[in-house]
Order: sequence, then structure tokens, then C-alpha cells
Amino acid sequence: MGANRHMSVDSRGRYTPEVDGAAVSGSEGPAGSRNPNPIPARRGSLMQEPVLVLNATYEPINVTAVRRAMVLMLKGVAQAEEMHNAEVHSAAHAHKVPSVIRLLAYRHIPQQSRALSRKNILLRDRNTCQFCVRVFPSSELTLDHVVPRSRGGRSSWENLVACCYRCNNSKGDRTPEEAGLKLARRPRPFTLHTSRQLMRLIGHRDERWRKYLFY
Ligand SMILES: [Zn+2]
Repeated sequence: MGANRHMSVDSRGRYTPEVDGAAVSGSEGPAGSRNPNPIPARRGSLMQEPVLVLNATYEPINVTAVRRAMVLMLKGVAQAEEMHNAEVHSAAHAHKVPSVIRLLAYRHIPQQSRALSRKNILLRDRNTCQFCVRVFPSSELTLDHVVPRSRGGRSSWENLVACCYRCNNSKGDRTPEEAGLKLARRPRPFTLHTSRQLMRLIGHRDERWRKYLFY
């Protein structure tokens, strides 16, 4: 009974901080992008707005949510570089909401810092089936071993791709060549370059991110 659907536990509900913010999963929808005011009215969603995180050197390194960014600021780990035109109110204070924060101490970012996970593979492949090149919600995608495991294919960045169930079924236990399928592009590890592209995608609505990302 619905065995396939068990694979989809982490649909959009689990999207939290990190580079995968709402813009990638498209939960704002095209209607939202027309809104002249990028700050949603409800406080709950404001706390989930994406915040660009810069290293001490101003290099963009991550995207987090307003809530987490404000915790980093309160702890003295980061300071705000750009602000939203919005405030959140606690019992005693009104707090300005950051749009870009910068870490006060330099953090070394390992070249290959992203965990190999279903979430990150879907993120790298932008929720696009790598065979039919159509975009799907996370719940309708699975991971495909390009070289099947039964042929010694490994679970690695280079051998795992996002794949819709239909393509996955038609490929079966074969290589793409054998199944007459073609990969949209060669799968690569999730690099800082990939991350930066995603940051641009997420940040394109927010002018305040531009000077840190478009150089
Ligand atoms: Zn497909």
C-alpha cells in the first residue's frame, strides 16, 4: 500500500535553513514574485525569509533563515550588513531584521563540505529529472544510480542523479546507454560554485544581496 510514497518523507516541510531556501522549492510561487513588498506580512514566514551569510572576508558562504541569523547576531557570532525594512517585536524590543549577515571570525570552508544526501542531490540537480529534464516536487523524485549498483555503481556525487519515477522505471537496472536515455549533464560534486549559483537564484528578489553575489 503506497510503498513508493514512503520514499517521499522529506517533501517541502523539511526544507530548513541552508542553501535550499524556499525559492528553490518554489513555495513562494510565481504570484509571490510579483509582490512589490518582499517581506510577507505574517511574522512566522518573515522569520523563515532567507538571509545571505558572508564569511568575515565578505565571501558569500551560505544562506540561512532570519530566525537563525538573529540567533547568530545575538550570540555575537555575526553582525548585520544589510537590513530588511521590517522589524520583529519581542516583549521589550523591536529588532531589525537582517537580509545579509557577516561572520565576525573567519571560518574555513572545506572544498567539499556538502554531505552526500538525497536533499543535496535534488538541490544540485534543481529538482530536475536528469533524463526527461522536467522539474518535479521533491516528493515525485527519486535518486537514480547512473551505473546501477548491481554493476558496481557507487553511491557518489558522480553516480547519483535526481530522477522522476517514470524515468527510473523505464531505465530499470540498465545504464543510460542501454536504456536509450541521455543525461542532461554530467553529475558533479556540490561545489562552492554550485552553491553560489543557488544563492543567486534564491537572492534574485533581494537587491541587497546583489553586491555580494554578482561580481
Ligand atoms: Zn524523468
